[in-house]
Amino acid sequence: MPAMTSHILVVEDELDLVRSLEFSLRREGYVVRSATTAKSALELLASGPVPDLVLLDLMLPDLSGTEVCRRIREGERTRHTPVIMITARTEEIDRVVGFEVGADDYVTKPFSVRELMLRIRAILRRSHAEPVDAAPQVFGLVRLDDVAHRAWVSEVEIRLTALEFRLLSTFLARRGRVQTRDLLLADVWGIEADVTTRTVDTHVKRLREKLGDAGEYVETVRGVGYRWRARPEMAHSGE
Ligand code: CA
Repeated sequence: MPAMTSHILVVEDELDLVRSLEFSLRREGYVVRSATTAKSALELLASGPVPDLVLLDLMLPDLSGTEVCRRIREGERTRHTPVIMITARTEEIDRVVGFEVGADDYVTKPFSVRELMLRIRAILRRSHAEPVDAAPQVFGLVRLDDVAHRAWVSEVEIRLTALEFRLLSTFLARRGRVQTRDLLLADVWGIEADVTTRTVDTHVKRLREKLGDAGEYVETVRGVGYRWRARPEMAHSGE
């Protein structure tokens, strides 16, 4: 297990669930802190060491989990901190992992602890992975700095979640080659089981929105998946 000393912040107001999560996470070797309100979670995030991952319940007594997630994304220290949202409402999923909220993943209550542990491990493995190529990548309007985890479109920085950044970086590295949804799930999400292809579509849609004009570089290959264009100029030939 690569993430033995990772710190995880659990934000959940159901004490039974907090205790159970703490037990399971510590058994896996994680260092765990918990907050039972949004306010205490935001205080911990503002002052203490930044956790490696936040497990965040959607329904909290003071602020909604979605609002907490937005603030995590806005915070200079925490904007790349992975967030897994815990939700009881499946109809919220698009919003939760979508543009509006920006969580990296979600589980729906009731969830299997084993499944959650796999997702945590996968996300931590991604975020701890060393970048392969240190030089900034440039493709048409897009510039990507793998070391700083920053991206620009037309020299304006765009704000990406850890997962969106990984998705963009993967697309760029495999430009001109079709990426099936299953392949993207395995390589970007890091797990092969139980994440629907709809999750891929939701994230690609959000990434395209954030890329603005450069969103055209991501082509949909109907019935198969996606492909980042081989050459940037193709995207603007029709202007
Ligand atoms: Ca709750």
